[in-house]
Amino acid sequence: MIRSKFVTLILAGLLIISALPAGAQSDGPVYIVQPGDTLFAIARRFGTTVEAILEINAIADSARIFPGTELTIPGFSGVSGVLEFRTVTFGETLETIARQYAVDPADLARLNRVVKLDTLYAGQSLIVPQPELEEAPALAGTPRMVAREQTRLEMAARQNTNPWSLELLTGETAPRWQIAGMVLVDTLSDEPPALFFEPLESVTITPLPLVQGQTTVIRVRTTSPVLLEGALGDHQVEYFPGDEQEMVALQGTHALAEPGLREYRLELFDPQNGELVYAFEQAILLEPAGYGSTVLNGVPPETIDPAVTQPEEALIAELLAPRSPVKHWEGPFEDPSRYYTDELIAFFGTRRSYNNGALQYYHTGVDFYGRDTPIYAPAPGYIVFAGPLTVRGNATYIDHGWGVYSGYLHQSEIYVGVGDFVEAGEVIGQVGNTGRVTGPHLHWEIWVGGVPVEPITWIERSFP
Ligand SMILES: [Zn+2]
Repeated sequence: MIRSKFVTLILAGLLIISALPAGAQSDGPVYIVQPGDTLFAIARRFGTTVEAILEINAIADSARIFPGTELTIPGFSGVSGVLEFRTVTFGETLETIARQYAVDPADLARLNRVVKLDTLYAGQSLIVPQPELEEAPALAGTPRMVAREQTRLEMAARQNTNPWSLELLTGETAPRWQIAGMVLVDTLSDEPPALFFEPLESVTITPLPLVQGQTTVIRVRTTSPVLLEGALGDHQVEYFPGDEQEMVALQGTHALAEPGLREYRLELFDPQNGELVYAFEQAILLEPAGYGSTVLNGVPPETIDPAVTQPEEALIAELLAPRSPVKHWEGPFEDPSRYYTDELIAFFGTRRSYNNGALQYYHTGVDFYGRDTPIYAPAPGYIVFAGPLTVRGNATYIDHGWGVYSGYLHQSEIYVGVGDFVEAGEVIGQVGNTGRVTGPHLHWEIWVGGVPVEPITWIERSFP
């Protein structure tokens, strides 16, 4: 009895697969040879052999393959289109992506040599068959996750679309009832894909993949007001109201963070009763930034004594941990040294050894030229620290709100005091050579969510 049920299930599965659109009955998708590719590497990537590729493409001489050569890939006869690389965004699954390109999820998995179908991570590079415009499969479209059991008409009305444009990948018209978790394809919509259940509408994470030392921006849109909580790797993320229906969080990625996968978890709570409404979790790829390394000799020995440096680190980390709810800045930050942006002495992120010691430090900011030249506040905020420190010398830190702070180290003069509110462009001190230095300069830091990040980005673009 059990056995016959099992067989029935398999048969049902086969029926669904056989009902998949056959596409334009192509021999397979087309891969365009990239610089640096070899036939052997291409064969390995798609789980086939050099001989099979040569045969299906009727190529006699394997030396006649160059970057730009179009190769049909054998073993995927149900798939057509040109294979392109595409980054997985947060919330996407193999199934939603397969729906978007009208391919069988199993084929998409095989194309990418994905073994476990439920483990795509955000930031992953995926090969997808991009249909040529005139021959786009009729069933390709925008994936829509069905949030709960509902009628076809109801769902179409809610998504402001034609009920008959919602199709299942199988090519059958969608049944009258849609089942929660089912992925439909909206063939007419240009809207972004609906990947989540209500009230979660979208989650946008930039950059994707995450990069060591960079500021990550997370935007969450919901269809109704909710309270958000969650974490990105080791960091608890705090969200603040952006524009309508949007919550925004800024979080720094540590410059020394181990490249690999980070779990991102988002929890939505009912603002009335505090109950958990919906939670979503997915791994995100973190990539190395390729920072270099350097040895600095001649720094004062007491400034590299852990008995001195560690309490100072702890003091600053504690000072810069709170995330005040008011965002004081608007648009890009101004240049705090004003004249020296193009001539940095030292970049952010470089691994450092002091006096030929271990390469255990890294540069937590950027260094500008200057000597007794003015330092300007790059954006408005409250002064949370102003005074002498052993490593940092005469130091000032400004709280700009939302967990964003800026720091000014090694000053000869400090012109502000704790509790002062400064405007962008206000002179707050002078460049000097106090603390752990080998000469006069302004060391400028930006901290986001308790982590020092690459600061020049904050001058070049507007956050969030
Ligand atoms: Zn520095």
